[in-house]
Amino acid sequence: MTTKLEFTYQALPMRVRFGAGSISCLREEMDAIGLKRALVLCTPGRQDTARLIAEALGDRVAGVHAGARMHVPADVAQRAREAASWAGADGYVAVGGGSAIGLSKAIALASGLPIIAVPTTYSGSEMTPVWGLSENGEKRTGTDARVLPRSVIYDPELTLALPPTMSVTSGMNAVAHAVEALYAPDASPVISLMAEEGARAIAHGLPRVVAEPADGDGRAAMLYGAWLCGACLGATTMSLHHKLCHILGGSFGLPHADTHTVVLPHVLAFNTPAAPAMTAALRRALDTDSPARELHALGTALGAPRSLSELGLREADLDLAVELATRNPYANPRPVTPEGVRHILDAAFTGRPPDESGA
Ligand code: NAD
Repeated sequence: MTTKLEFTYQALPMRVRFGAGSISCLREEMDAIGLKRALVLCTPGRQDTARLIAEALGDRVAGVHAGARMHVPADVAQRAREAASWAGADGYVAVGGGSAIGLSKAIALASGLPIIAVPTTYSGSEMTPVWGLSENGEKRTGTDARVLPRSVIYDPELTLALPPTMSVTSGMNAVAHAVEALYAPDASPVISLMAEEGARAIAHGLPRVVAEPADGDGRAAMLYGAWLCGACLGATTMSLHHKLCHILGGSFGLPHADTHTVVLPHVLAFNTPAAPAMTAALRRALDTDSPARELHALGTALGAPRSLSELGLREADLDLAVELATRNPYANPRPVTPEGVRHILDAAFTGRPPDESGA
C-alpha cells in the first residue's frame, strides 16, 4: 500500500438478516426491536407481496398502506403519516424498493418510530439515514439517524419478480454507490473493500438474472451486492455522479435507476484519470482494463437504456442541467467545471460509448 493510511469510519447501527426465505423471520425481527403493531408500506405494484407478508404477521399488523411513489411527494408522505397514526402503528415495515423505504423514512422522520426494511430492488436506501421529500418540483434531502432502518431483511425470493431490465438498471444504481464510495472524501479501507466486493457481486449476478430471472443464486448475488453497495452509500459522501442523477431526477423528472445506468459510465470515464485507487478496485471487480466501457457495454448487452434522450430529457434542458450541477461546489476527484459536466451530459444524452481520453 503506497497511500498514507488516515481515515474516520463510523459504523451504522443496524441488523441484517440475509437468505432465501428469511422473510419468515419478520416477527422475530419485530420482537428484537420491540415493535408490536406495524404498518406495512409499499407501492401499488408490490401490494400482493405486502399483503402476503401482512397476513403472515396476523395481529402484529396495523394495516397495509400501498401509497408509496417515487421521490416521496409531500402529499403522499402526509397521507401515510395519517394512515399510520389512525391505525395506531408503533413502527413500519417497508416492502419494496427505494420508494417504499423512502416513504417509511418520511413518516419516521416525524414520528421517530422504528422501520424494518424488506428491500425488493437493489437501490440501497435501506442502508442509509438519508431521507427525501419532493414538493413544488424540488426534492429536499437530509440525514437523520431516526430514519435508518433498525433491521433489514434481504430475501432473494422476494426479488424473483423484478423484471430483467429493472434488475439491470437497479443493479447499476447499486454499482454507482460503490464507484463513488471508492473515491469519496470520507472513503475508508473497510468501505473500499465492501465497494469492490459489492461491484463484483453485481457484475457476477447481472447476466445470470437477465438470462434466468428466477435463478436464486443469481438473485442472491445481486442482493448481496446491493447490501454492500448500499452500506457504502450510507457511509460516505457521494460526488458528481449522484449530484447529476439527483438533478436529472429532481428537476427534469427522469426515472431514478435508468438515469444512474445511463450516466454512470460517463462520470466514471471522466473521473478515471484522477482516481487511481477506484480504477484499480473496479478493474479487479469487473475483470477488465476499462471499467467505464465495460459498464456501458454490459448495460447495452443486457437491454438497459443507453441515452438521456430516450429517457425523455430534451437537448434544450442540457444548459440548465450544467448550470445546476456547477452552481455550488462539492467533493469530486476531478474539478467539476461547466465544460467537464457538458462533456459528460452530451455523451450521456446521445448514448455514445464513454470517452476515456480524460477530456
Ligand atoms: P422503486 O422503489 O420506485 O421501484 C420501481 C418499481 O418497481 C415500482 O413500481 C415497484 O412497485 C416495482 N418493484 C419493486 N420491487 C419489485 C419486485 N421485486 N418485483 C417487481 N416489481 C418491483 O425504485 P427504486 O429504484 O428501488 O427506488 C427509487 C427511489 O428511491 C428514488 O426516489 C430514489 O431517490 C430513492 N433512493 C433513496 C436512497 C436513499 O438513501 N435515501 C437510495 C437509493 C434510492
